[in-house]
Amino acid sequence: MKDTMNNVELTQIAQTFQTPLYLYDAAQIEANYRAYAKGFGDYPHLICYAVKANSNLSILQLLAKMGSGFDIVSQGELKRVLAAGGDPKKVVYSGVGKRREDLIFALKTGIACFNIESIAEIHLLNEVATELNIKAPVSLRINPNVDAKTHPYISTGLKENKFGIRMEEAFELYQMMATMPSLMIEGMDFHIGSQLTEISPYAEALDLTLALIDRLADAGITLKHLDMGGGLGIQYEDETLIDPADWIALAIEKIGARSLKLVIEPGRSIVGNAGMLITEVILTKENEGKHFAVVDAAMNDLIRPALYDAWMEIRNLSDTVQNTADMKSYDIVGPICETGDFLGKNRMLALKAGDYLMVKDAGAYGFAMASNYNSRGRAAEVLLQDGKARLIRTRETEESLFELEVAHLVK
Ligand SMILES: *Cc1c(COP(=O)(O)O)cnc(C)c1O
Repeated sequence: MKDTMNNVELTQIAQTFQTPLYLYDAAQIEANYRAYAKGFGDYPHLICYAVKANSNLSILQLLAKMGSGFDIVSQGELKRVLAAGGDPKKVVYSGVGKRREDLIFALKTGIACFNIESIAEIHLLNEVATELNIKAPVSLRINPNVDAKTHPYISTGLKENKFGIRMEEAFELYQMMATMPSLMIEGMDFHIGSQLTEISPYAEALDLTLALIDRLADAGITLKHLDMGGGLGIQYEDETLIDPADWIALAIEKIGARSLKLVIEPGRSIVGNAGMLITEVILTKENEGKHFAVVDAAMNDLIRPALYDAWMEIRNLSDTVQNTADMKSYDIVGPICETGDFLGKNRMLALKAGDYLMVKDAGAYGFAMASNYNSRGRAAEVLLQDGKARLIRTRETEESLFELEVAHLVK
């Protein structure tokens, strides 16, 4: 998030909407999207925002208005895209476990492409499409077996991962698909991981997939697009970043004279730095000389630190003086009964109960991964747009958490 809002303004927003609170900046999301669009220039392309990074309807709507397409991984995400006014003709559908009913719904909706991840999925899709008498546009997700050099949980392009189809099998599978009456071969895709900070794994994956595309062309199977997934990292700490323009330029250069539309699926790099989590310090405590700040946000609100050991910057919005003399090394922890429930460890901060802290760069995989663990309602979400702060998701009430439960009360 750009530092357009000062701490006083942010504190006022926190007071108005209460904490924990996710706050997003529309202008930053738009700028991030434009960086990709600009990188393509006139080159034929489709930007498919990866919905799973942040699937709030207002954010999807904002992107749909800018002309964005969407990368979805579930029927639920497709329904969100439609509810937000997204164009189904710009939707690509990824994921290793699409069920029959998911395929039926997506086929009837008329999406741009099914990114197929297994032989079983090829057969199921052809079967369902034949039953519905609809031609299914398809791409094979290739697992190029490249090391994305990121956290193992978000590395997806190694052969031992569950994702995609091995290079060695893909050629024959394309030949098989070419004979299947209800499949329309559109393209090829890969997605090698998330929070990538080096461009070389992409170069490697592009070389491998383009060579395969050439082999297929020689065999009479012409692909229309290449989809190089998402995965560009953002700056949480001091990471070096891949410039979207360089990334796209690399792909365009490698594609060269081939006639291939380029598809990308960025998620984190569109919304990550456009959001923050604001939380209030409930109390401070000391155990064996270690200082803890217990805050009202927890791992159920933001699981990245617990799940990936991710480092996210934490600032005190209420500490306007920044008095270094009062600074101590704090673990910023939530109220959940898990030792893994922390937002940050060993942070030099001056703070006291009642202060508002912000966790920076929490726009991606923040709220989207939130849960109700410990019967905690999920946080409210607010979007800053044209100088106004608007509620885009109401804080969950505790009552709503057990609304769907059927209590068979013991007499
Ligand atoms: C998660 C995912 C993305 C987005 O990754 P980011 O790192 O958020 O850019 C794109 N494509 C697929 C298939 C994904 O699973």
